[in-house]
Amino acid sequence: MTTTAITNIASLVTNDPSLCADSPLGLIRDAAVVIEGDRVVWTGESSKAPATDNAVDAGGRAAIPGFVDSHSHLLFAGDRTEEFNARMSGRPYSAGGIRTTVAATRAATDDELSANVARYLAEALRQGTTTFETKSGYGLTVEDEARALRIAAQHTEEVTYLGAHIVSPDYADDPAGYVDLVTGAMLDACAPYARWVDVFCEKGAFDGDQARAILTAGRAKGLHPRVHANQLGHGPGVQLAVELDAASADHCTHLTDADVDALAQGNTVATLLPGAEFSTRATWPDARRILDAGATVALSTDCNPGSSFTSSMPFCIALAVRDMGMTPDEALWSATAGGAAALRRTDIGRITPGARADLVLLDAPSHVHLAYRPGVPLVHAVWQHGERVL
Ligand SMILES: [Zn+2]
Repeated sequence: MTTTAITNIASLVTNDPSLCADSPLGLIRDAAVVIEGDRVVWTGESSKAPATDNAVDAGGRAAIPGFVDSHSHLLFAGDRTEEFNARMSGRPYSAGGIRTTVAATRAATDDELSANVARYLAEALRQGTTTFETKSGYGLTVEDEARALRIAAQHTEEVTYLGAHIVSPDYADDPAGYVDLVTGAMLDACAPYARWVDVFCEKGAFDGDQARAILTAGRAKGLHPRVHANQLGHGPGVQLAVELDAASADHCTHLTDADVDALAQGNTVATLLPGAEFSTRATWPDARRILDAGATVALSTDCNPGSSFTSSMPFCIALAVRDMGMTPDEALWSATAGGAAALRRTDIGRITPGARADLVLLDAPSHVHLAYRPGVPLVHAVWQHGERVL
């Protein structure tokens, strides 16, 4: 296999804390990275780099691990421009929210849904995202949920069954019947395509008992839990997630002290989604409080057409630093290694020997510029699986 060295990196974020006493980012100055096949095989100071077949001069740019976006909803059709416009303009708007997207998604062809996913994955890649999780949740019938997951699995290995996004409009008078469907025939049809099972545990969606039944049924079919928890108000989602050893509790906007303690003591990552608060003018999650308690925090886009229509991890980093109390180092870690932790992965989110060769060169001397220069397209080059894709 040929080896390629990327040399002349001004600052390299490895996310190997053993390399650097004062930062979990494991920063190396004047660094080089050697790639062989789809793996990183060496990192260190440029002057000590081993001989390789090929070399790429990074030109004094910063290098970071490819972003790991651990929460998105890309299996949809249509958009909700008018709903967003009305919300931001202070005008009442009475269309159906998620139901609008459900109707458009059901009406779309397989090719249309697949092209939509491909389009947003390409958009994310241009902004440095090399791993993407995505969910069903806009079909809400056995056939439409299974179809969404089958298409998702053609684009990413991180696929989540979210039949329990909302109670299907077809079951408006029979929510218990819908939970039976989600834990029965729909689960059977969806499990072969998914790695994860998720539920929107929130007032107006699914309560604690329903969420527990859905996650437990998914686990019995080999899916691992993750939970939409405590986005719109206090509730049982976070503590249920920790109790069931969910990989991630997502949103975590409204937390009691007991919720924060549970996150700090369990193995469940708190995934914060600032694009949702930005796009709905909602209260920011208090990242500082969660981090200071000792919990692991991930940052993700929540990319979806209703409440957070961004695929940009750099944008989320800038929001987390500006409005959620995170330092630039913490935000970068959470968008890379934190996302990997939220997907229970150790092969991504870091640039160390043995890791998958997913890395981004920034048109900047340091990762801090992602928050320091918000809205500026700083991604210069992207390697994914050892291939230069941008
Ligand atoms: Zn979501």
